Amino acid sequence: SLFRHAAFEISVAQPDGLLPSHAPEIAFAGRSNAGKSSAINTLVGHTRLAYVSKTPGRTQLINVFRMKNGAALIDLPGYGYAQVPEAVRRQWRGLLERYLTERENLVGLVLIMDSRRPFTELDRQMVAWFAVSGRPIHCLLTKSDKLTRQEQAKVLRDTKKIAAEYACPITVQLFSSLKKTGMDEAEAVIAPWLKI
Ligand code: GDP
Repeated sequence: SLFRHAAFEISVAQPDGLLPSHAPEIAFAGRSNAGKSSAINTLVGHTRLAYVSKTPGRTQLINVFRMKNGAALIDLPGYGYAQVPEAVRRQWRGLLERYLTERENLVGLVLIMDSRRPFTELDRQMVAWFAVSGRPIHCLLTKSDKLTRQEQAKVLRDTKKIAAEYACPITVQLFSSLKKTGMDEAEAVIAPWLKI
């Protein structure tokens, strides 16, 4: 499968630290605590892969994982962490925006959102930046195991409606790292991005 046995390659302090590359990249972004590390670990089939430098307050690094087909998985720092000083946040916003709008080999964005709090203001900001590229965004509504069936159906319906308002293609699905559900669906959406 696509993500299985991706290997950690390097951590960089800022997007500028990523070397120019022709290999396709898939970026993972989300609010801190949305469940991004868990989702990456679930997709990749490791338990500690995205654990690197997760301690709150530490310098947040971008972790690069290499998939077997040569494509890179870029684990962006979680955003919205309240303890980060405003000056640092502002600098990061600039770096992220540049990366999302200018990185040519970035084929798609996986946006991790807590299914109980989808499309927060910061999530919308990420979408707005990346939408400029015209490339696809796939949203994983994580921790779906915390919702009832009815709530799941409702959040899926509501987020699809929001997604449809954007000009770039945005797809949405439910995901649970705890129950390991949604993995096949995620792969089915993301795999075609790599055929560039
Ligand atoms: P990150 O900050 O976005 O990387 O979030 P983490 O992956 O570290 O997850 C944040 C918290 O949510 C942790 O306590 C996880 O155990 C929990 N969590 C993550 N994914 C799930 C999920 O699918 N279901 C449930 N019930 N909890 C989850």
